[in-house]
Amino acid sequence: APSIVWFRDDLRVGDHPALHAAVERGEPIVAVYVLDEESRGIRPLGGAARWWLHHSLASLADDLHERGVRLVLRRGAAAAAIRTLVDEVGAGAVFWNRRYGGAEREIDAHLKSGLSDAGLEVRSFGASLLFEPWTIRTGSGTPFSVFTPFWKACLAAEEPRHPLPAPSELDGYGGPDGRGGPAGDDLDDWDLLPTRPDWAGGLRETWEPGERAAHRRLRAFLADDLGDYATARDRLDREATSRLSPRLRWGELSPHQVWHATRDRAAGTEGARKFLAEVGWREFAWHVLFHFPDLATRNWREEFDAFPWPRLHPTALTAWERGRTGVPVVDAAMRELWHTGSMHNRARMISASFLTKNLLIDWRRGEQWFWDTLVDADHASNPFGWQWVAGSGADAAPYFRVFNPELQRAKFDPDDRYVGRWLPELDSDGYPEPIVDLKETRAAALAAYEQVKAAK
Ligand code: FAD
Repeated sequence: APSIVWFRDDLRVGDHPALHAAVERGEPIVAVYVLDEESRGIRPLGGAARWWLHHSLASLADDLHERGVRLVLRRGAAAAAIRTLVDEVGAGAVFWNRRYGGAEREIDAHLKSGLSDAGLEVRSFGASLLFEPWTIRTGSGTPFSVFTPFWKACLAAEEPRHPLPAPSELDGYGGPDGRGGPAGDDLDDWDLLPTRPDWAGGLRETWEPGERAAHRRLRAFLADDLGDYATARDRLDREATSRLSPRLRWGELSPHQVWHATRDRAAGTEGARKFLAEVGWREFAWHVLFHFPDLATRNWREEFDAFPWPRLHPTALTAWERGRTGVPVVDAAMRELWHTGSMHNRARMISASFLTKNLLIDWRRGEQWFWDTLVDADHASNPFGWQWVAGSGADAAPYFRVFNPELQRAKFDPDDRYVGRWLPELDSDGYPEPIVDLKETRAAALAAYEQVKAAK
């Protein structure tokens, strides 16, 4: 009886434990991806994410096809879709790599017990995180709430396993074209790509989704940029970081591949240490989400529920989204985001600080905009990053540390190269005056914060 391999946020054939287990089981393989926009609690993907998903699925389908398996595409509530497929092919086993969001875990656990009760072999594997969230604990057995001791504990734990090789040939159920196998949707019918209007031109210019391109990028980063990473990563005007975040988000690369490639190349160097610590922040965000599934909607620090967000000023929110606030480094960042579906980490911090502390707009508004526009929009890292900046999150920046956008610009974009690239009209009359006074709004934010302190 065939094995079903259910692909989710792991759109790759290399280092894929579930696929590997199916190969070892020795029965024909059915590969499936389910677009789930129906199950309760599943957050609908944003626009930029849908664009990435389309191309990454197309690439995965090619890579599987080359090896003899057709990728079956199904749409609907995931558990029902998998059960239907199990019945259609008379599957004997279902394998997947784990997901760590609250709703996802519930769906998977329920499905696992149901299928196991029906006599199937159901197995899940760790593949998207270096350390399983339940294995990293403080001395007293609680989850970590501060990064530094968390990462120290990770580094003291057993080293992440070596990546598994990509299988070169697979036994596809229904033959390599899947003609004798189950029917599936046509990717184009899912309408994941924008058409009217087609806003994805900048994304196409910037990115090439897919596993092969991901490995090329990893190799190039390690060869050319890792050496300077520790000192140059904060510079807005340099492309000094890996730009691997969408690859990790969609699982075109596993963190194990990144970990070992980095160690093999440069173990013990400052660049490798710093770079892997950033990958560690991704781990931390996911561990926090695992223990606090409402991270995108609820303040991690409860006392922030008392924060008196003023009534939303919709024109201020729109000005921020469109990059028309009159604060150059913020506007450059927001335009970079709109054009490329990405934003430099320091720019994310500056623009998030400006939204929450100068415009006094609830971090959830900003998180939602990022969710819709980032190609790396991530269930954990995005709300984690927003709560970190807002001060309401785990190991967060203290609320009273309000980024001064002008000082940040002077320090991290000293020749105005970043700002100039995204704001060609900066020195003309067409560029707006700042929509708020930075000093006044900073004072207002600090006054509002007093209420949080009082609620503590
Ligand atoms: P590099 O500097 O090369 O880092 C390597 C990898 O480490 C990244 O690819 C990423 O996977 C991980 N990483 C680095 N910094 C962080 C961090 N602070 N938190 C978590 N992981 C990190 N990252 C996302 O992947 N998805 C998001 O939706 C996201 N939203 C964010 C929102 C805000 C408000 C902030 C402040 C940060 C957010 N980040 C998010 C984290 C970080 O900005 C990006 O991961 C980083 O800019 C990606 O660029 P890079 O791949 O070149 O990073």
